[in-house]
Amino acid sequence: MGNYKPKSRLTAKEYIDGVLRGDRVLLSRAITIVESNLDSDKLIAKEIVQAILPKSGNSFRIGITGVPGVGKSTFIEVFGLHLIKQGYKVAILSIDPSSQRSKGSILGDKTRMEQLANSDEAYIRPSASGDTLGGVANKTGETMLLCEAAGYDIILIETVGVGQSETAVHGMTDFFLLLMLAGAGDELQGIKKGIMEMADMVVINKADGDNVRKSEIARSQYQNALHIFPQSESGWSPVVRTASAIKNIGIDKVWEEITNYKKLVLENGYFNKNRNLQQVQWMYNNVNEELKRLFYGSKDIANQLSILEKDIISAKISPVKAAQKIIDAFKTLFQTR
Ligand code: GDP
Repeated sequence: MGNYKPKSRLTAKEYIDGVLRGDRVLLSRAITIVESNLDSDKLIAKEIVQAILPKSGNSFRIGITGVPGVGKSTFIEVFGLHLIKQGYKVAILSIDPSSQRSKGSILGDKTRMEQLANSDEAYIRPSASGDTLGGVANKTGETMLLCEAAGYDIILIETVGVGQSETAVHGMTDFFLLLMLAGAGDELQGIKKGIMEMADMVVINKADGDNVRKSEIARSQYQNALHIFPQSESGWSPVVRTASAIKNIGIDKVWEEITNYKKLVLENGYFNKNRNLQQVQWMYNNVNEELKRLFYGSKDIANQLSILEKDIISAKISPVKAAQKIIDAFKTLFQTR
């Protein structure tokens, strides 16, 4: 986007050295570069990511999802603090597709995870913004690599349960955790079967006070429901546990199960296999995003598209023919380059 180059930028080397030293200020600034849409930043971003790549990949990546109100922030706060107590450094990233539409992220509006935010062992970064979920996800993926290179050993990627973002998070994590509530039907919780199917673990949160019994019932119901799904390629059978984030009950057990999972998939080879597949998929995601950017970013294409839109509405051309016409125009545009 233009040739404008902000004055506040450092050299790629300064960012790289800062990230590798674990300097949080430079990590944040490097992430800003990765998230930027400016052409000049994109060049630096590529250089930074390429340079830190050998130092990335050493974390365990956990995706966490659940509808708004299920207790994600509360859970991540206690879970993150538990991990820190075990000696880990934890980075918390989020994919929040709604931030594309409503300028401020809904996740950023409240004061979240105060204790974690104040811990030197935790790094919290709100969602990147972007035009497409794919674009946002790609940026979050690169942010994750930067955090790993900066020494964070556990990455928590949170998403709000509103559709496609779960698939994106599942595609970049090693373990997928779904938070649910007792006493609300699946429909009510907006959780689709496909998301249940991705879960390595379901945690019934808010299992406290009057809710304990209901949560236990929900636990066995969900456990039965999960048995219906075909055995996952990981060799792991998804588990359902109850927890209370607010009372810090069951959080240690969640981590215990994740540790069991990690041991299993490291031993049976699934961990590496899955990471490799994710890497390849990531390339395709980038190709898709770049193609979209080239296509819709072209003035020629935009002009022709607006004419075609009118022609479709006035029934001058069929949608299929119009699509072919614009693709042909795109091909010609590239052949003449
Ligand atoms: P998020 O929208 O998924 O991030 O949910 P929040 O963490 O903001 O929690 C939503 C509400 O549920 C808040 O009022 C929390 O205090 C409450 N909450 C979160 N976890 C628990 C829990 O374990 N038990 C109870 N009773 N309330 C909880």
